[in-house]
Amino acid sequence: MAGRIRAGFDMLGLAMCGAAAVLFFIRSPWTTLPAVVLIGLALVRALSTRVEARREEDRAFTQAFGRMVGALRPWAWRFTNWVRNRMTWVRERRRYKVFVCPGCHLHQRVPRGQGRVRIRCRNCGTSFEGKA
Ligand SMILES: [Zn+2]
Repeated sequence: MAGRIRAGFDMLGLAMCGAAAVLFFIRSPWTTLPAVVLIGLALVRALSTRVEARREEDRAFTQAFGRMVGALRPWAWRFTNWVRNRMTWVRERRRYKVFVCPGCHLHQRVPRGQGRVRIRCRNCGTSFEGKA
């Protein structure tokens, strides 16, 4: 066996160890065994002398992982945008009062602390009163 080439740790091996670390961290009896199995498999793969077969597994894994990340990207983008909008909204609410036009439901903001105000919708021209 000495001197033979071994597969070593590739991306799949690292991912398995990472997943195992997360499973260990959860500290539940349901996740500890899978974590041990994952570490064991990662070690078996790293020490394997069938380098070509391991390389093929790693290629399949990185490809599938890349596809998954690609599929998730629009959702991640949507989520960060949603959070950003929420934060802006919360910040603005302190300084502005938002009125909804009874005619066209357009949201319009008025600086707070002006008392009763008469608002003319800039979209449909409907006039309404509110307390800012
Ligand atoms: Zn309107």
